[in-house]
Amino acid sequence: MIDFHCHLDLYPDPHSVRDDCIRRGLYVLSVTTTPSAWKGTSALSANAQRIRTALGLHPQLAHERLSELGLFDNLINDTAYVGEIGLDGAPEFRKHWQDQLTVLEHVLRRCREAGGRIMSIHSRRASGPVLDVLEKHRVTGSAVLHWFSGSFRDLERAIKLGCWFSVGPAMLKSENGRALTARMPRDRVLTETDGPFAQVDGKPVMPWQVETAMEALGEIWSISPDVAKQNVDDNFRRLLATCPGTGVFS
Ligand code: MN
Repeated sequence: MIDFHCHLDLYPDPHSVRDDCIRRGLYVLSVTTTPSAWKGTSALSANAQRIRTALGLHPQLAHERLSELGLFDNLINDTAYVGEIGLDGAPEFRKHWQDQLTVLEHVLRRCREAGGRIMSIHSRRASGPVLDVLEKHRVTGSAVLHWFSGSFRDLERAIKLGCWFSVGPAMLKSENGRALTARMPRDRVLTETDGPFAQVDGKPVMPWQVETAMEALGEIWSISPDVAKQNVDDNFRRLLATCPGTGVFS
């Protein structure tokens, strides 16, 4: 199983969560929210073959962490994965829109110069603008839209642009999340938790709870959870093959 968007460093006890992920053989993309968090977070899973750390600068922190773009540039060659990045159009973050755009465009330029990266992308209330920026930078083939919640129209556009999607237990609890997932190409869907931010039944989702997403995906695709899991595994391997330097993950 794969948790392709998890904030491992933000659980109250990251070491024990990591150990549990290792014990269960889970693949985890451990995303970060600031470049300064990358070193410590990647050290957390330095010996875990199936856990990889992504270098990120979260759109909700863009205005506070513009000064870390230099550090981002220094670290980009140390990882094949970038995230969490993106744009957030919610009212409290909209006022920092220009900073969000500056950060995202900078990151996409650097990824391109570095030969491409697999990216986990946030697009809350900003799916149209995120797609505009991805299109402009022509980096959509390895862009994974995490917890996509835009319109069906923007979903169609993302599919045409070649984007991938990661969906999780919290998203699949909502009717809209399931309706969006049902319209995603089955060969471009991965699973995620967005834990510990995402919650199910009032508790932060743990990485291994991606298993519950397999049940929902099986229902949506009219196949068994086991076949859904196999489908997601196959997608994961195909996604990794789109980008150099990712092989060690598997
Ligand atoms: Mn997240």
